[in-house]
This record gives sequence, structure tokens and C-alpha cells, in this order.
Amino acid sequence: MDLDKAIRKVPDFPKPGILFYDITSIFTNPPAFRYAVEQMILRYANNNVDGVVAIESRGFLMGACYAEKTGVPLVLARKKGKLPGKTLQQSYDLEYGSATLEIHEADLTPGKRWLIIDDLIATGGTLQAVAEMIERAGSEVAGIFSIIGLPFLNYMDKIGKYKPVTLIDYHGETV
Ligand code: AMP
Repeated sequence: MDLDKAIRKVPDFPKPGILFYDITSIFTNPPAFRYAVEQMILRYANNNVDGVVAIESRGFLMGACYAEKTGVPLVLARKKGKLPGKTLQQSYDLEYGSATLEIHEADLTPGKRWLIIDDLIATGGTLQAVAEMIERAGSEVAGIFSIIGLPFLNYMDKIGKYKPVTLIDYHGETV
């Protein structure tokens, strides 16, 4: 499966100079979608994953597939203000300003191993924020999975210790 062909690339989105890797074109391509889900599950076959934390919003899609297929709990990491119950919160830096993610505190059972799932790793700041919440809750990060990696943005500096897994990497090419 050539996953690259299944990923839509949109130059200058959401602003000039950014090449946006759009994974929604994987979901409209059933063989590519099936391949991505199968590969994700294969990579963690021997990793004792107790549950999944999926990141809003494209991370929800792959995270839901992992949880349903392997029979583990699915916990959502949402943008601030969306979750109704008592939450853990973590802020992180964006290129301009900052953002905050929240997780329902009651959902993050302590002492478990959580796999964090998102669509793309750029600087790694988003995933690092979620990893910090998991560790603050007394749990462990079992791994980090993302369909796409942009290693030239040096995400290994932030999240290398969690041994992130990606299915395809891009190295700063333009289209
Ligand atoms: P970061 O925290 O820098 O690793 O950014 C990761 C988040 O931003 C992911 O949830 C992605 O959905 C989104 N993102 C960042 N850069 C891109 C890009 N070039 N194409 C698509 N999504 C991106």
C-alpha cells in the first residue's frame, strides 16, 4: 500500500508556507483506511496496551478503531471547555500563543498503560502535553502512534522517550 498516494497535500493551509497533510483522504479510501488500522494494531501487538487516549479531532478516528478492535477503553483528550465532568488540564505552546487539552479525570485509571493516538506529529508539543497528563494521573505511556511524522521539526527532542511510531514520514518536501 502506497500511503503517500492516499494522503491529500494542501499547500499554504491554514496559512502561507505550511504544507498541510490531510488524512481525511485516507478515510474516503477503504483499502488505505484498512491498511492504516491494521498496521497500527500490528505495531502494538506485544505492547500490553490497557487503553487508548485519542486526541481531538482526527486522532479520535484512529483511536476509536484501535479501541474497538482490541477491546480496550477509549479516552478522549479534548480542547478546553468541551468535556462536562471534572478534568485534568495541560497547556502547551503553539507557534503563536498556547492551547489547552483536557481529559476526564475519572476516565484515566491510574496504574494503566495508555497508547496515545493522533493523526500527525509536527513539533510533538500536543502529544507531550497528553503524555504529561497521563503521568500526572499516575499512569504510564505505553507508546505514541500517529499516521504521519514530520521528523525535521525535531519532535524526538520532546517525545523520543515514548518511542513514537508513524506509518509515513515527510522530510520537508514541498509540492
Ligand atoms: P504538534 O503539537 O506541533 O506536534 O502539532 C500536531 C498537531 O497539529 C496535530 O494534531 C496535527 O493535526 C496538526 N498539524 C500540525 N502540522 C500539520 C501539518 N503540516 N499538516 C496537518 N496537520 C498538522
